[in-house]
Amino acid sequence: MRFLPLFLSLSSGSAVLVGSGSAAIAKLRLLRAAGADVRWFSQDADIAGHAGDIMLAKNYAGRIDVTIKEPLETDLAGALAVVSAAGKELDERVAARARSLNIPVNVVDRPDLSTFIFPAVVDRGDVVVAIGTGGASPVLARRLREKIEAILPSRIGEFAALMRRNRERLANVRTPRFSVRRFWEKIIDGPVGAAFLSGRTAEAEIALHRSIEAADKSRDDERGVVHLVGAGPGDPDLLTLRALNVLQSADVIFYDELVNSDILSRARRDAEQVFVGKRKGQPGMAQYEINQRLAAAAKSRRCVVRLKGGDPFIFGRGGEELEYLQHAGIPVMIVPGITAALGCAAESGLPLTLRNEASRVCFISASVADEKKDVDWSGLADPLTTVVVYMGLSSAAAVQAGLIAAGRNPKTPAAVLARGTRPDSRAAVGTLANLSAIAASVSEGPALLVIGDVVARSLPWKAANASQLEAAA
Ligand code: SAH
Repeated sequence: MRFLPLFLSLSSGSAVLVGSGSAAIAKLRLLRAAGADVRWFSQDADIAGHAGDIMLAKNYAGRIDVTIKEPLETDLAGALAVVSAAGKELDERVAARARSLNIPVNVVDRPDLSTFIFPAVVDRGDVVVAIGTGGASPVLARRLREKIEAILPSRIGEFAALMRRNRERLANVRTPRFSVRRFWEKIIDGPVGAAFLSGRTAEAEIALHRSIEAADKSRDDERGVVHLVGAGPGDPDLLTLRALNVLQSADVIFYDELVNSDILSRARRDAEQVFVGKRKGQPGMAQYEINQRLAAAAKSRRCVVRLKGGDPFIFGRGGEELEYLQHAGIPVMIVPGITAALGCAAESGLPLTLRNEASRVCFISASVADEKKDVDWSGLADPLTTVVVYMGLSSAAAVQAGLIAAGRNPKTPAAVLARGTRPDSRAAVGTLANLSAIAASVSEGPALLVIGDVVARSLPWKAANASQLEAAA
């Protein structure tokens, strides 16, 4: 470690800034964001032309004094820090003066002249992450910052502020052997943190107050939480940032057959993984048993993730699990996922709606057709409706017959999109009249049937027609 990372309060004094180029302006912005009073020395009189917007901004606490000259030792005296971005010789003189006064100095792009350096910063209000490379590679630091930006929940700063607001209350807790650290760990990892970070901030604050009261009366208020998480259609890059965050804090993950190992590999290493889906030719675990296991895991105070393919509320029985858990008094957070229709449509360049061609899109499940129940096809005969059929691979013949009987044009373009967004994804195209033959040409699911004029806009359709044209030529 070449530099000791510290967070410096600038509210009790002033910082000196030298120079007026874009590097100096960037530092001015940073110093102002930290609430500093800035004594700014420039040899260029047109300061407002460079930084008028920053100087006039009203939401800063500190003030700016501008002096048009080179700062001498007496000008630097008393400063908390000196930042110089004035060009070679002036920078060297400023650095020497600051050093002789023992004032921390940073010269932009000159680690050799600096006694401190600016890290790359992720600024979320009360939560700040600083990344340094000891001056070796600011570009690397910035890259790392982008990665950290992506994994930090967006409300993390507000969450820290909530805890700050409630520290006093907690100080009054009289319970013997009460551990403040344990208390906050449970808040951060438990239902309060989960609710706050997913946007239910008011509810989280009330729950926090309740936990503080319960701690004071030494009542046990601990509960686990269940996150109902959509894992997307298969490609792990299509997980949402929130899903990734939740997977990283899971104690136990209950997952379906649609969730593949690439996705599970993004979860916390020591989370227990429980398969509750269906394996080929075998009946899966009954829904009531899954419900009970989710509830039991949450009651044992664990952070439970129920991970489902696509979105939990699209043909995923997420609604049933939600109601069961709500009845059992268990807090449930829902993380949406990219449903198969959206993932497959994006992958195959198939616009589900399109001006003048498709003004409506319907997601239907064909498993009822399989069960020989009647599907009402009449609403799906409209030529401006794109029909997306989930769980339809084995009942493609019923879908084909039903739609045609209801009056849908047999020449309507149709596609079967199998294993969408996965490495072995496959698409086959044709028309509604031969939908069952297209489905039969696809060896294995999961797959969607898509029927609608917009299918003719898709990449697989264009590729198939191009090869036909080639064959004809
Ligand atoms: N909740 C899921 C759907 C579960 S039902 C979602 O929102 O996507 C299971 C059906 O989803 C499968 O039979 C298939 O029709 C569809 N499906 C899921 N993943 C798919 C994929 N990667 N490609 C094509 N279809 C998929």
